[in-house]
Amino acid sequence: MIGLVRDKLGDPSCGNGFVLDGFPRTVPQAEELAKVLVERHISLDCVINFQVSREDVLRRLTGRRSCQKCQATFHLDFSPSKVSEICDRCGAHLFSAATINEMPSKPACESMMNRRPL
Ligand SMILES: [Zn+2]
Repeated sequence: MIGLVRDKLGDPSCGNGFVLDGFPRTVPQAEELAKVLVERHISLDCVINFQVSREDVLRRLTGRRSCQKCQATFHLDFSPSKVSEICDRCGAHLFSAATINEMPSKPACESMMNRRPL
């Protein structure tokens, strides 16, 4: 992963800035990132640590719907299709992007949520 980040940070598209979303996730990744930033003479302007309840995470994840035919995406609460479970674009049935069984367990979720910021 750090190789991808290192390569991307050297890309001209990052010349005016960049956002790392979900990276680094571990202390070793943070240490590797720090080395890359020093090598490239880059300093971070800010770090944002979102704190979201387990209930909100589950609501967002379980509400996602997608169309396997045309790839359109919906959300039951934030961007619902006009007809329940039917794609607005092509009329195909929508599928849940994640089922409740794929959600992190409560202990796993709490463990993730109780991590200290890097
Ligand atoms: Zn569709």
